Amino acid sequence: MDTDVLVVGAGPTGLMLANQLGRRGVRTLIIDRHAGPSVQTRALGVQARTLEIYSKLGIVQRALELGKRASGANIWSLGRRAARIPLGAIGLDISPYPFLLILGQDDNERLLGEALRAQGTAVSWNTELVGLAQEPDHVRAALKQPDGALREITAAWVAGCDGAHSAVRDLSGIAFQGAPYEHVFFVADTQATGTMVPDELNVYLWREGFHLFFPMRGTDHWRIVGIVPPELRGQKDLSFDDVVPSVRAEAGSGLSFQKCTWFSTYRIHHRRAERFRDRRCFLLGDAAHIHSPVGAQGMNTGLQDAYNLAWKLALVVTGRAGAALLDCYEDERIPVATRLLSTTDRAFSLVVSDNWLAGLFRTRILVKIAAFAMGFDRVQKLAFRTISQTGIHYRGSPLSKTLPGVPDAAPRAGDRFPWLRLKFQPDGPVEDLFAKLDDTRFNLVVFGQPVPSGGVPGLGELLRIHAVPGDSANDRELARARIPRPSFYLLRPDGHVGLAGTHLEIGEVVLYLTGRLHLDMKPA
Ligand SMILES: Cc1cc2nc3c(=O)[nH]c(=O)nc-3n(C[C@H](O)[C@H](O)[C@H](O)COP(=O)(O)OP(=O)(O)OC[C@H]3O[C@@H](n4cnc5c(N)ncnc54)[C@H](O)[C@@H]3O)c2cc1C
Repeated sequence: MDTDVLVVGAGPTGLMLANQLGRRGVRTLIIDRHAGPSVQTRALGVQARTLEIYSKLGIVQRALELGKRASGANIWSLGRRAARIPLGAIGLDISPYPFLLILGQDDNERLLGEALRAQGTAVSWNTELVGLAQEPDHVRAALKQPDGALREITAAWVAGCDGAHSAVRDLSGIAFQGAPYEHVFFVADTQATGTMVPDELNVYLWREGFHLFFPMRGTDHWRIVGIVPPELRGQKDLSFDDVVPSVRAEAGSGLSFQKCTWFSTYRIHHRRAERFRDRRCFLLGDAAHIHSPVGAQGMNTGLQDAYNLAWKLALVVTGRAGAALLDCYEDERIPVATRLLSTTDRAFSLVVSDNWLAGLFRTRILVKIAAFAMGFDRVQKLAFRTISQTGIHYRGSPLSKTLPGVPDAAPRAGDRFPWLRLKFQPDGPVEDLFAKLDDTRFNLVVFGQPVPSGGVPGLGELLRIHAVPGDSANDRELARARIPRPSFYLLRPDGHVGLAGTHLEIGEVVLYLTGRLHLDMKPA
């Protein structure tokens, strides 16, 4: 076999997958048909959940240094600031990264590429997947080499991270269901001054659309995303100067542009692959789902597809789990993509509808509802959890098992385990639980009861146990997260709860690992 996993595409999704597989000892070959990394910014918003994953990969500090933290979003309508969503404060107890990081896709790809090189893996550029044939225990892949010659390689598994026009998807005969939106988007990198609140997201709503102003690195540097006004639709060779009057009309006549360094227009589709897997081939990122950029979710969702698949694939490739574990990649990620498509569709229709009544609703009523709702702590937290992707859960997954006795309000199997600051020794310091979790292994977090001395037989190095002693500071933290005592949570490597229960019985844990995860429990 030439490689364990052939990763097709070195965009953000493919780079994340190759990194996560490499960290878990899996041999990968990552190819891309382009000559080198993309230099276009494209996606801009890095969500809190992605930053949590970046921290495990060792690139979060660099990302934070390079990016700009947007601590709030301002909604403007009819020339007035109608509402402000305070992103920073809302998420303080939810994530170590309670903000939206504005960091271009090119920078994200550069950091992910550097991390991959540090593991000793280089992307094979100018190499295109042109053919696939599935055999019972491997895949034969035809690659067009930089010199144009074809070479056939064999891989145990293939990951299609090859974007919206995915060859893996087409060669696997998987339909990409959906349609294009009728609107044309524009994107412009500008230097501008105006009413925009510095260092925050500014959303200008108008009767026929919206303009988003993202703060970028540097002085007065703004990325503007909007839809092309109806009167300009169909016009060829559109330039930034053509859209300036409509931007000024809504963002105020005081808006002044010093320069525009990049302008592009693009059509957006909303589509989802009918399946995310065909036997030994998987689809991730834009190859599996595309939707409107409203909400800055696209790139982040692809990165998390990769984080979800990597640990499962690594356990199977290294012979620790049966291949049945891979079935739940689709079980878990298709519902996330379906929900995302429907929410971004709804949000998109609301902000771009040409309908006069919708325009009135958007500029007069929607902003008032937003301002009113954001006055409530619960609504703010729900908004943060949804946008930051920290609220994504797999409660309906076959891998999620909550034992009787766990209160309804407590974290349940499938949830991303909450971020806690705890004392792990009665006289020790308060520590960040996320920093202690090892995401290349399972983590068993045990509250208010002794930990069995032998650990979990047969799991060996695949498990880390974290015992949390009784302590008043710990009790306050557990009460905040509604975690009962006693309780235990077996976390999957990706930080989601696999098994949740009250009294720890090792037999239950073993049953879960062998029955649901198809793990081969080697004798200690
Ligand atoms: C103009 C623009 C603006 C955007 N703005 C936003 C935004 O603001 N927020 C947001 O979240 N998202 C945005 N997006 C979407 C975002 O860019 C994508 O969600 C993201 O790039 C998906 O990453 P990916 O790795 O899955 O796919 P891609 O980035 O498309 O990477 C796929 C890679 O696969 C390679 N490839 C394709 N076919 C083959 C083959 N046969 N063999 C080998 N390699 C192959 C390609 O060369 C490419 O490098 C925007 C997209 C565009 C075009």
